[in-house]
Amino acid sequence: MKYNLSVKEFLEKRKNGEIDYNDFYSTFVTNLKRKNKELRALRVISHSQKGDLNKGKLYGLPISVKDNICVKGVESCAGSKILEGYIPPFDASCISNVKKNSGAIIGKTNQDEFGFGTFSTNSGFDIPLNPLDKTRVAGGSSGGSAAIVAGLDMPHVSLGESTGGSISCPSAFCSVVGLTPTYGLVSRYGLIDYANSLDKIGVIGKTVYDTALLLSIIAGHDEKDFTTINKKAEDYTNYCSPDVPKKIKLGVPKEYFSDDIDKRIRDEVWNSIHYLESIGIDYEECSLEMTRYALPAYYIIAMAESSTNLAKFCGLRYGLQADPTENFNNYFSKIRSKGFGEEAKRRIILGTFARMSGFRDAYYLRAMKVRTLVIDEYKRLFKKYYALISPTMPIFPPKIKDVKKISPIQCYMSDILTVPPNLAGMPMISVPSSVPSVGIHIVADHLQEGRIIKIAYLLENRC
Ligand code: GLN
Repeated sequence: MKYNLSVKEFLEKRKNGEIDYNDFYSTFVTNLKRKNKELRALRVISHSQKGDLNKGKLYGLPISVKDNICVKGVESCAGSKILEGYIPPFDASCISNVKKNSGAIIGKTNQDEFGFGTFSTNSGFDIPLNPLDKTRVAGGSSGGSAAIVAGLDMPHVSLGESTGGSISCPSAFCSVVGLTPTYGLVSRYGLIDYANSLDKIGVIGKTVYDTALLLSIIAGHDEKDFTTINKKAEDYTNYCSPDVPKKIKLGVPKEYFSDDIDKRIRDEVWNSIHYLESIGIDYEECSLEMTRYALPAYYIIAMAESSTNLAKFCGLRYGLQADPTENFNNYFSKIRSKGFGEEAKRRIILGTFARMSGFRDAYYLRAMKVRTLVIDEYKRLFKKYYALISPTMPIFPPKIKDVKKISPIQCYMSDILTVPPNLAGMPMISVPSSVPSVGIHIVADHLQEGRIIKIAYLLENRC
């Protein structure tokens, strides 16, 4: 197919004037629509402003966006029925940056409602299918983004978001690259929050280069989000080079290779570690003992924050509306009963409980202390190791029809490898291995995006 190009090739050809944009764009939209019928990856296909296509770094590259990131004039629901009909009158800061660089916003991708899930089966709309095996889940919560990046044979990148693993998990399951930056590197202005102290906007792409490129565009301080780090964006594509860093050692956390992890996955990750060893990158086994406490701490913090965030959805300001003649209590109960899915309701109940006076010290505040211990443990390891390497997910993507047999606790347990680095706000990347749906996860210290990109690039380009 004429436009089966990598992003890098597309940009080069555009720069040299070798691609007629109108022809490319209409082919893109036709193919996207066809693929989307098959995969149900996008909830909305839109044509947003494209800017001056001969300027900027993206030259009209079409970009899809997770549904929880606001795009001016395009319905943005965060995967929830309660927000149906909400059309933001503004762009999220990352979207403004993409548009400034002539990226074309092409639509909103299906996701777990508000990000609550690991398989994208908690969507208030469609459940995206895994292009590698359409009977299986695409992963969550940014499942639609990973599915369309993997399924479409055209240059494409997607903006995703991770609270506890939502970029890494679907990227592993769909065998694409998922880059989650350090907490605070990318502005959250215009993100429909899940849990404010954990949310990170990141990138899902076909190659490490593609994710590094888009990160360079969306990263950097933003006056509209006071939690962004005061750091100028750098060009992360500079780390996409074949030179091997000298005298570095990777840490291999032994808890991440326990018997609970599928053996085929463990074996495949060891193959990658041995490959890196063969090109001169040393490794050593290490321990992340706090991992076992990270998961419960994460779920307490995430649910406490999300239950607060969801309080504003009561049918007055955004989305679903009902007959306004009723008294307020009945009105908002009706809206919330109808608009929220089962998992959102579960999290409101558990999160509110964890924040209640009398329980706050025992749960929420204790979880915050555990979080500090998790960060300290990572910081200690990163004094010694360039980065940590492990499997991304402990399991293969389940069949969609089997997901209802999985209990909520079992579902939360499948985040065991992705939650700890997310809780600590560390940057991470999932890069495909040679086995379909098995991702290799690389985690580095805060603001060391360059390191994870470097190692992922070496793995991606292994001969
Ligand atoms: N599965 C995790 C959760 O449900 C993480 C999801 C996410 O990162 N949004 O909280």
